[in-house]
Amino acid sequence: PDVPVGAIIAGAAARFGDRTAFAHGDDELSYTELYSEACRFANALLAHGVQPGDVVAIHMPNNLAYPVAYYGILLAGATFTPANPLLPPADLAAQLADSGAVAAVTYGRAAQALAAIQDQTGVRLVVGVKTEAQHEFGAFQADQPTNRPEVAIDPRTRLAHLAYTGGTTGRSKGVELPHRNVVVNTLQFSCWGSGSVPELDENGNLRLNQVGSEAEWPGRLGTGVGINLTPWFHAMGTIGGLNSLLLTGGSTTLHDGFDAARYLADAERLRITGIGGAPALFAGLMASPDFHTRDLSSVRSISSGAAPMPHEMIKALRKRFPDATISEGYGLTEVTMGATSAPSFRSATRKPGTVGVPVFDTEIKIVPAEGGEEPLPAGEQGEVCIRGPQVMIGYHNRPEETAAVLADGWLHTGDIGVLDDEGYLSIVDRKKDMLIYKGYNVYPRELEELLMAQPGVVSAAVVGRKRADVGELPVAFVVRSDTTLTETAITDAINENVLPYKRIRELHFVDTIPVSAAGKVLKRELRQQLG
Ligand code: ATP
Repeated sequence: PDVPVGAIIAGAAARFGDRTAFAHGDDELSYTELYSEACRFANALLAHGVQPGDVVAIHMPNNLAYPVAYYGILLAGATFTPANPLLPPADLAAQLADSGAVAAVTYGRAAQALAAIQDQTGVRLVVGVKTEAQHEFGAFQADQPTNRPEVAIDPRTRLAHLAYTGGTTGRSKGVELPHRNVVVNTLQFSCWGSGSVPELDENGNLRLNQVGSEAEWPGRLGTGVGINLTPWFHAMGTIGGLNSLLLTGGSTTLHDGFDAARYLADAERLRITGIGGAPALFAGLMASPDFHTRDLSSVRSISSGAAPMPHEMIKALRKRFPDATISEGYGLTEVTMGATSAPSFRSATRKPGTVGVPVFDTEIKIVPAEGGEEPLPAGEQGEVCIRGPQVMIGYHNRPEETAAVLADGWLHTGDIGVLDDEGYLSIVDRKKDMLIYKGYNVYPRELEELLMAQPGVVSAAVVGRKRADVGELPVAFVVRSDTTLTETAITDAINENVLPYKRIRELHFVDTIPVSAAGKVLKRELRQQLG
């Protein structure tokens, strides 16, 4: 349906009313409270001169003020731009200036970082949560009414999100996503997970109508319980952790930072129904002894995305949660959040290790990595291209970079993948992470999978060391749990099983592998370590 994002929160409030939407420490927000607070915040923004179409940044970690500010911005017809609160000052200044943000909501110590660079940006209104700022969050909206402001929003053109790419592989770019993209992508994932179809209620707001049977569809509306650690400044957070969750009536407890023992204790106490997050979250949980002793029998779905889930991890999760559905989705900021997912129903047709099939209204084709638009046949590797209503309008202020990735509605993702003859997609690696050794393509992920299957190896990442004569040599970084493991023992075990050009030429033991807030391995940091 062509409705603005406000239709999600308004519809959810009408339907789930007093149910707790979010809990954080001793504080809670019900669906009704969240909606009326968000309306109040929207009215406050408009009263302070923010115009529909203006960009407003949220520069906060997850906390109860976040969804209030997020829906408030969208209900006011303004555009939300998320900023990681830990961004270094220069990057924060660059992002805020590029986005054209006129206002920002900030939190705690992050406020100082914002204050230090504010004069390099267009931000003239700052609202602070748990910090000193021009306006204190509560006082800012205290006198405002809780009715939904009447602003005209064209869902096809008015930007809901101006989201910045993770910057894992290069400089971060602003991605333009109108309301329609956010609503569609939310539906693409929510309906599939809960066995329901969307409809509009008597006020023109969105609701889901359950059609599937409970046996087939694990995610019943209004029954989900979870713990949130996915940052809302990332696509998986805003679509999966906010919009999809509210549309399906989930109830979420927020944790500040990751503490496996606390997570697992709360999982048992709250009887959570699902665990969702990047593979780094599952790795952290599985490394805790409590993972095996806590009662996690309430968990009926495991969903992962944002980065590849190693095969060893899928096997271990399947063993620990034999009755739960385990699914991996795939996406990128340029498609709002996601493009494929394993269907939650039809468990017999799931294919572990793939990222599932395209969500509805979405097409995927594989084209030659060297260029060209002609699709390759099933079974052949190439660049993954996506077409669908969730694909971005383009990169903000970057027409050339937009033209380089968008042709005829097809987004060229920069990921190498392969479709099987039933349309299931597997991601091989990122094009930019691929190494070329003596003219041969080497995909680090294949080596990483082999490394992680070695006993005593906890995690691993492979990058290339440039050498003028051969191109790039595969170099491995390995975290081991068994300190008697030697470099040669590991490299010999791997190199015996791969083609000669793929052999690991150098291996370094490290304490940790650097990952971004969204859970992606930061390969550029590893390359820097190589000098
Ligand atoms: P930048 O483009 O600035 O480097 P980024 O790629 O980290 O940033 P995101 O949009 O957050 O920005 O990440 C999308 C990428 O994450 C995809 O292109 C893909 O490489 C990877 N990814 C996401 N989900 C999966 C998955 N299930 N399996 C493998 N890779 C995945």
